[in-house]
Amino acid sequence: MLRSFFIGLSTNKAFRAFSERSAAGRKVSSRFVAGMSVAQAIDATVQLNAEGIDVSLDSLGESVLDVAHAEASAAIYHQLLDAIETRKLRANVSVKLTQVGMDIGGPTEGPALAERIVGQMVAHAAHIGSFVRIDMEGSEYTEPTLQLTERLHQQYPGAVGTVLQAYLFRTESDVERLLTQGIRIRLCKGAYEEPAGIAFPEKADVDANYVKLMKLMVTSPVFCGIATHDEAIVQQLRAFVTEHSIDKRAFEFQMLYGIRRDLQRKLVAEGFGVRVYVPFGTEWYPYFMRRLAERPANVLFLAKNFFKS
Ligand SMILES: Cc1cc2nc3c(=O)[nH]c(=O)nc-3n(C[C@H](O)[C@H](O)[C@H](O)COP(=O)(O)OP(=O)(O)OC[C@H]3O[C@@H](n4cnc5c(N)ncnc54)[C@H](O)[C@@H]3O)c2cc1C
Repeated sequence: MLRSFFIGLSTNKAFRAFSERSAAGRKVSSRFVAGMSVAQAIDATVQLNAEGIDVSLDSLGESVLDVAHAEASAAIYHQLLDAIETRKLRANVSVKLTQVGMDIGGPTEGPALAERIVGQMVAHAAHIGSFVRIDMEGSEYTEPTLQLTERLHQQYPGAVGTVLQAYLFRTESDVERLLTQGIRIRLCKGAYEEPAGIAFPEKADVDANYVKLMKLMVTSPVFCGIATHDEAIVQQLRAFVTEHSIDKRAFEFQMLYGIRRDLQRKLVAEGFGVRVYVPFGTEWYPYFMRRLAERPANVLFLAKNFFKS
């Protein structure tokens, strides 16, 4: 119930505008957000790289409804790719299609705009040997996101990939579909509210599907990201890797900034690849609410720390 409450709140425009402007809002968001500026995000990246952790930079934003805003979001991504090149950061970028125009105009106009903007990012990433991950949003975007990724992968093989969500029934066939084309996948459980007709309502079923799909991915020749903080799943993958003599570097674990830092470091020490997703920027509200939805106990934790400092 609390999950639905926070996911509902994540799309509340008035509360979003109020929270993003308030100093208190910015303070609490710093638990999961690396800062408001590109410079702060780069600093966080340098620190993580020094600990042996790779990064995916996310300039926060989504549900953008005008072209100038979409273009401004893209400009930040080009700045990030320039910084990755000049500062030799072990980093790539993650972007949402609704941040770069997917919802603007009609059903063909928006996707065409998003494809043009993300296409330019992927071209830039390919040029410097980096990579663009297209995050996955709610299920109305699943098929358009996959098709867009497939077209860009044809043009720039290896420079673009996307995300699949274990809570959707369709994901098993999507895993096969992308792996046969050599497209890199990040597997996550899924962070949106989806109807029972298309997604597993029970967490235990989502977890079981995650494990099944993760095994398909790590035994394929495609380099994939296993994005979870679920220690039981991490443990199952450790055992599976040992049992099947899979190279620890044939895939990477991915986790979110500020979550399970202990586990991130432990996995690096064990010789696994770890990438941390580093979100930053002033448009932090929907991202932050989804993190509360995943673990409502975070609200108590944040409140305690807010009044402490
Ligand atoms: C790198 C990365 C990228 C992602 N990209 C996407 C995307 O593109 N699309 C999408 O829909 N979802 C995305 N997600 C979110 C994902 O779908 C889940 O909502 C989220 O990761 C929580 O699931 P979990 O696998 O950690 O397992 P859970 O079963 O939710 O959590 C397992 C354990 O992890 C810890 N934990 C999990 N979440 C939190 C939290 N918010 N705060 C504190 N502790 C926590 C707790 O200890 C918890 O017991 C991404 C997640 C990661 C790690």
